[in-house]
Amino acid sequence: MTLNLNHLRIWNGFDDDYQFGHIAIVGDCIKEIAESAILNGRDCAGLTAIPGLIDAHVHMVLDPCIRNPFDHITDLEKLMPAMVERALAMVNAGITTARDLGGGNWHELALRDAIARGDVPGPRLICSGQPITSVGGHCHFWGGEAADLSAALDILEKQIEKGVDLIKIMATGGNITPGSRPVEAQFDTNTLSAIVARAKSHGRHVAAHCHGVEGIHNAAKAGVTTIEHCSWVGKQGWGLAYDDAVAQSIVEQKTWVSPTINAGWQRFKSDQKRVDLVQSNYRKMRAHGVQLIASTDAGIPNVFHHHLVKALPVFQFFAELTPRETLLAATSSSAEAIGLGEITGQLSCGYAADLLLLDGDPLNDLSVLENPVGIIVNGRLIKEF
Ligand SMILES: [Zn+2]
Repeated sequence: MTLNLNHLRIWNGFDDDYQFGHIAIVGDCIKEIAESAILNGRDCAGLTAIPGLIDAHVHMVLDPCIRNPFDHITDLEKLMPAMVERALAMVNAGITTARDLGGGNWHELALRDAIARGDVPGPRLICSGQPITSVGGHCHFWGGEAADLSAALDILEKQIEKGVDLIKIMATGGNITPGSRPVEAQFDTNTLSAIVARAKSHGRHVAAHCHGVEGIHNAAKAGVTTIEHCSWVGKQGWGLAYDDAVAQSIVEQKTWVSPTINAGWQRFKSDQKRVDLVQSNYRKMRAHGVQLIASTDAGIPNVFHHHLVKALPVFQFFAELTPRETLLAATSSSAEAIGLGEITGQLSCGYAADLLLLDGDPLNDLSVLENPVGIIVNGRLIKEF
């Protein structure tokens, strides 16, 4: 498909401001961006183009309407259509790439491949398969339990054989698993370091689920690529164990933090104590230079796969970001963090044609993301305009 879009206002995914001109798309790729108009191009005067959005933490197999993790459908004949429906809802909401951080039977990899082949519309997916966890640990029901390092490496090798794009490890306990405690570290630094090294030898990055401060520290020291949640849980409770030295080691290791602040966090805004605590943690992290990427943990109870655009203003509020900083975290920065920095996340020549056309000024108001006028994923027009 060739698509020539004229008279656009363009935000390329990293600059401070817009440029004006045309975007020429050939096949799945951006062929040219230039100031001049292009012959026979479509007049898009009044519209703003930005890169498609990236959700760096989702679970395609999980149904957000189900509370008990053991109640999820496993029957593939029912599960696959539900996953296809979620993927369609995501692209219709402007999400053109998502990183799937766990499932039990690699069904999300089948969905990834179906989307890549063009069989079904959906965001470009990169998938971790079964997360490595401790025995009885967080999300052990997905099959990635490991009692020691050698068992953990076996689980890792199995994921590679299945064709995963990255490795996920549960560095601490989590909320949705009965018997698991978010404050507790599940692996020591040596084990995590060996897992990171093995993943690296296969050209894969590691995402580490971390609520408790000890697990955050272990994961940072081990050199994981992204720390998920980063909730600073300590013995005194949620968010109360922020530690400057740990933030410093996150920065030194160039680890990204993926806070999974979803739209549901809106409800915490009325709790001033909580607002102050969360904002102060992010202020301190950012003062150290910790880099953030946007993520929702879609699939967990009440967190819907297509609600990234509802989450972004809430993320903006709690992390005290400007709209541009928030967009960076959902486009070019995110792409770089998840290993797709040379493929998507920006509107540049040679990049995948993943873009949204908006009516409004997203660098000043994120709410305009809620109603994209046009959506193009990998050169395919998802929303006609
Ligand atoms: Zn998750």
